[in-house]
Amino acid sequence: MRIHDLETRLAACGAQPCHRGRILRAWLHGRALHSGPRNRPAEDFFPLSVRAALPQLDEEFAALARLRSEHPGADGSARLLVELADGQMVESVLLPRGGLCVSTQVGCAVGCVFCMTGKSGLLRQVGSAEIVAQVALARRFRPVKKVVFMGMGEPAHNLDNVLEAIHLLGTDGGIGHKNLVFSTVGDPRVFERLPRERVKPALALSLHTTRSDLRRELLPRAPQIDPAELVELGEAYARAVGYPIQYQWTLLKGINDSVEEMDAILRLFRGKYAVLNLIPYNSLEGDAFQRPDGERIVQMVRYLHSRGVLTKVRNSAGQDIDGGCGQLRARAEVLRSR
Ligand code: SF4
Repeated sequence: MRIHDLETRLAACGAQPCHRGRILRAWLHGRALHSGPRNRPAEDFFPLSVRAALPQLDEEFAALARLRSEHPGADGSARLLVELADGQMVESVLLPRGGLCVSTQVGCAVGCVFCMTGKSGLLRQVGSAEIVAQVALARRFRPVKKVVFMGMGEPAHNLDNVLEAIHLLGTDGGIGHKNLVFSTVGDPRVFERLPRERVKPALALSLHTTRSDLRRELLPRAPQIDPAELVELGEAYARAVGYPIQYQWTLLKGINDSVEEMDAILRLFRGKYAVLNLIPYNSLEGDAFQRPDGERIVQMVRYLHSRGVLTKVRNSAGQDIDGGCGQLRARAEVLRSR
């Protein structure tokens, strides 16, 4: 389901372009479809044919993303298990300070070895209307001022839908362009398309290591692009749009937390418009990967920061709830199949 399909549906009910815009804006902001400024009645805005269709349209729009369950975390975040119209499920995460993380695919084809979502492979794309519907749903709970495309899926593998959603959120959705964060493992198509878009989002690049051989092991089906080349492409985009690249680095004990890696980061990031986000891996019992000790993480941040790399530790939101991305959905699927 794409945004274009919603517009066609509205036009079929007799909604003119101005009516369609009003209805979409109400939906995007988490309000009832017939609501207008200062709660003026629908009669003030819509012709009879549209008014007659509004209850049915309300139902159809709400069915794009329904809340299946909510899992609040101790850090102020909340994981939402969201059911799409065909019964598939994705996760959205309400983040502290008005952020929302949305999913762009059901499953994912990249297969990162440390990611639960990657284990299922790609099941289907999430349509642009379904991506935006996750924001509309979240706004029924809290204001949303920032949307990060870092939930389930690789946004670059669903580029048309994600860019459509970004466009609508950055215009009628009222979200600042640099508060829309496109996250990718580094698909070359991203660097061709994003600079041409009217709404240019910020970019987060999943780096995880400076070594090509290790990156191939950790992200087996990501584009085979050398980390140094990836950073150069990111730098060109950062300079073009005027906001820094966020480099994502899932911290895995004994794998990518060495001094050699830190020194390679220093060489790679010298003079770059970049922020490094260290994300300690959220280990479960019996897991093949572990997160480094807290002391080690602090040492790494100090080491990089004192040598000029802006470094932040980002814990995966709500990790006290169910671990990393995709685990809620995986558990719900198991329960459903019983
Ligand atoms: Fe896909 Fe992201 Fe998981 Fe990698 S970390 S498998 S890109 S969802």
